[in-house]
Amino acid sequence: MQAGSPARPDRSLTQRLARVFVVVTLLIVATLVVMGGCFAAVLGHFEPTVSSLIVGRNAVDTVQTGMLDEETGLRGYLNSGDQLYLSAYYAGQAAILAGDSGSVDLATRPDLVRGILAMRVAQQRWLSEWATPALAIERAVTSPTAQRSFLLSGKTLFDTYSVASDAVSTQVDADVTAEQTAEHNVVLIALAVVCAMLMLTVVVARRQHRALRAAVVTPVNDLLTTMRRVGAGDLTAQPAGIGPPELREVAAELGHMTTTLVGERSRMAAAEAEMRSQAARLELIVNVGREISGSLSLRYVAEAVGGAAVRISGFDSARMWIINEDRRELNVVHDTDTDHGRKTAQASLQLGEGLVGRAGQFGRMLATQTIGSLATEYRAGTEISALAVPMIVGARIVGILELISGDPVAVDGSSLDVMHSLAGQAATAVEAARFHQTADELSHTDALTHLPNRRSLELDLDLEVARSLRYNRPIACIMLDVDHFKEVNDRHGHQAGDEILSEFGSAFARSLRETDTAYRYGGEEFCVLLRESDAQDAVVVAERLRIEIANRFAGNRGSPTVTASLGVAAIPSDAIDAKTLIAAADKALYAAKAAGRNCVVRASSTRVVHVRATRGRSRPTSVPPSPVVVTEASTAS
Ligand code: GH3
Ligand code: MG
Ligand code: MG
Repeated sequence: MQAGSPARPDRSLTQRLARVFVVVTLLIVATLVVMGGCFAAVLGHFEPTVSSLIVGRNAVDTVQTGMLDEETGLRGYLNSGDQLYLSAYYAGQAAILAGDSGSVDLATRPDLVRGILAMRVAQQRWLSEWATPALAIERAVTSPTAQRSFLLSGKTLFDTYSVASDAVSTQVDADVTAEQTAEHNVVLIALAVVCAMLMLTVVVARRQHRALRAAVVTPVNDLLTTMRRVGAGDLTAQPAGIGPPELREVAAELGHMTTTLVGERSRMAAAEAEMRSQAARLELIVNVGREISGSLSLRYVAEAVGGAAVRISGFDSARMWIINEDRRELNVVHDTDTDHGRKTAQASLQLGEGLVGRAGQFGRMLATQTIGSLATEYRAGTEISALAVPMIVGARIVGILELISGDPVAVDGSSLDVMHSLAGQAATAVEAARFHQTADELSHTDALTHLPNRRSLELDLDLEVARSLRYNRPIACIMLDVDHFKEVNDRHGHQAGDEILSEFGSAFARSLRETDTAYRYGGEEFCVLLRESDAQDAVVVAERLRIEIANRFAGNRGSPTVTASLGVAAIPSDAIDAKTLIAAADKALYAAKAAGRNCVVRASSTRVVHVRATRGRSRPTSVPPSPVVVTEASTAS
């Protein structure tokens, strides 16, 4: 038995428990066997033997009593001759018969065989040599001497029997005592053995209990501690992995579980960080979308989208290019890096030229690994220096969002999606801004002359006059009306009239300074706004304009001859605000018409300066005449 051997860690818990069960069971079975053997010995041998000896001894006593009764009866009969005494003899004879059968078993015991034999012989001798003759003796025929001698011989024979019978009884008593002593000894030994085995069982069970406890409790406590730490969120906790294989397996599984949890937690943290960054990007896109959706300014849209693209992508700078489809070229509308060295050099590109030109031509997202290298389709994750994202609305490529970085940048798939979305939003906003710009231009531009229209004049005039008044700076206005234009139409047709009017745009461009703006006021009337000019300056400009018109439409090769009359007014000399300025210029124009047309008349609060070539209706042919007449007129306005 190895119950006391040190615990072997490679022995499984099941094997240990099985061993404990087998050992304890064997001990209990051995104890039961000892107890059973003891009972078997007591019940199967000692008790029957003792009983048989006692029965035999009683039988011997019964026979002796019967013999005594026979002897007494026969003596009485022999002494008295009275047959009555023989009844005792016969009673003794019956007792002897019963006793003889009871003492038969004693003869089977070797130590009693001799005694029994001697007793039987003595009994038989008494019976045959004395009792039987005694019954046959006639009292009358025997002499007293013979009778005494006979009685004496009977006594001797009986004493011999008694001695043998007593010896048997004594031997039987000794045997009974010996058997009982042996029985006690066997029971005592069995009890001692049982007690020893029970104690051994207790000792073995206790040692096995201790061994199991040592093998199980520490590892289980270690597992519990680890589980509690893991439950409290400490995923660095790892079990020691001690104890029997089953608990080591549990520890290994727990360790594996915590390792998996750590991995899962870091994966979840990474996913959460990714989601947060995605949410931030989406928020940025939503904000940019909200910002640019309300704006119809191309510049503002480009700035917002460029800034957001840089923040999302990790590139150093972003440029927005807009496609001019008529000229098949792309133009930069915004560069987040305003100090970028290449900005000026690449401010416009032909479609198909370089990274941006190719992306604009094919409408594909293209990238270059190093600046200036071959443009290729971009695959998420590769490191690049420049990325061109097409801005597409429907099937139309509106422009390109270009991202540039000094150090190579790798853009992941989700960031690319965000860039696509941003470029899409930008495309829509740019398109809307461009439509707005076009519509705005159309609403402020005259379609025939391509000059700003009267609405535009009113807006500009309010602003400029306000500025002039605020800073006390002069501002002048020229009102121009084509002379006898009705006749031109009538003679040369309305279309010819339109063509003449459309040429006024370039006529103004030739004669005006950069700070002057010409507007089509309506019909064949025009207005010129001259910033930072007083009436005197304006008269010079008006005269130059008059000559330009007269020269341009001098009626060469059958074309119509056209002249114009001009009225000049200025703030602060002739008017106090926009309304009075126009009115004063208009009035001067009216005066010019009245003065004979093809002349310049300056309004004045005190006088009208009338400049004209000839009196009455003039028809300058080639070189317009110089102003020769200056007439003072009342300005009672
Ligand atoms: P005046 O010297 O007094 O200004 O004579 P006028 O004929 O120019 O003046 P009037 O106001 O009587 O006629 C203006 C003419 O200008 C009438 C109109 O047919 C013509 N006109 C106005 N707008 C246009 C235009 O857009 N195209 C053409 N072809 N003609 C126009
Ligand atoms: Mg007119
Ligand atoms: Mg006219």
